[in-house]
Amino acid sequence: MRMVKWGVGIFLVAFLGACGSSQRASQQKLALVNIVPEAKMALSMDTLKDTVLLPADTLKISAVTRIDSIDEPVVLTPEEKRLQERLSGINKTADWAPAIHYDNRKPNFVIIHHTAQNSVAQTVRTFQLPHTKVSAHYVIGKNGQVIQMLNEFDRAWHAGKSKWGTITDINSVSIGIELDNNGKEPFAEPQIEALLVLLDTLKTKYNIPQTNFIGHSDIAPTRKDDPSSFFPWKKLAERGFGIWYNEDFLPQPPANFNPTDALKIIGYDMTNPEAAIRAFKRRFVQTEVNSILTPRDIAILYDLYRKYY
Ligand SMILES: [Zn+2]
Repeated sequence: MRMVKWGVGIFLVAFLGACGSSQRASQQKLALVNIVPEAKMALSMDTLKDTVLLPADTLKISAVTRIDSIDEPVVLTPEEKRLQERLSGINKTADWAPAIHYDNRKPNFVIIHHTAQNSVAQTVRTFQLPHTKVSAHYVIGKNGQVIQMLNEFDRAWHAGKSKWGTITDINSVSIGIELDNNGKEPFAEPQIEALLVLLDTLKTKYNIPQTNFIGHSDIAPTRKDDPSSFFPWKKLAERGFGIWYNEDFLPQPPANFNPTDALKIIGYDMTNPEAAIRAFKRRFVQTEVNSILTPRDIAILYDLYRKYY
């Protein structure tokens, strides 16, 4: 047992050392920083079980010495923390028989945000500050500049406490896109055009359903109001991203139509019905955002429900 633990420890230290030095050597090559640890991480998972079975005399003495000499708490880089987390995905109480057919889990939702900040530079800085604990995969500027900040396969911290249907960990299944916008202004045309191109790429690449392009306020209606009612959801829906209703003809809902059930079926968390209705109106009514469903709002809801669900 002692040998097994040493094996894992030595393996981790040797690997983490390599990660740190490769990052320092290529500060300019940000894209590579993500790729190199991924490759090594895959190697580590494949070789972990082999490593722990190595006889003690094949282990390098220098690595053992290094473990013994550590007396300060080690500050891990994000890549190192990520590796530790991946290793925790191996269940020690189960036997191990490695499968050979697998790949990355893929995003199946896109969550749209506005930054509520004043510039792309400010948003990028916010996501790079250690204490903020927030991030997104993409930030799009008013001029249409698209900045990627995280590999699409990585889990960004953009959704926070949120719920959509029965999904309670939105970060694990989604791509987060932040639009540079202070929340009180229309969205710039070049920005929306750039967003549409990006959404097209993501939809095709990951086969994301049309209904799964949603807003932050949809999934966290009590906490969030982004994107604001200026956001052109209709334009997005016309291109196949998110849903919209027939503005020219809204059929009368049947007498037994239940708006609360329909909102729930669409995905809204109805724990706080007033907040969910506000989120619904922010997205689909836009000219009026409150917690009262008018007959027209109910007709909009019914049209969405019968068209998509
Ligand atoms: Zn947001």
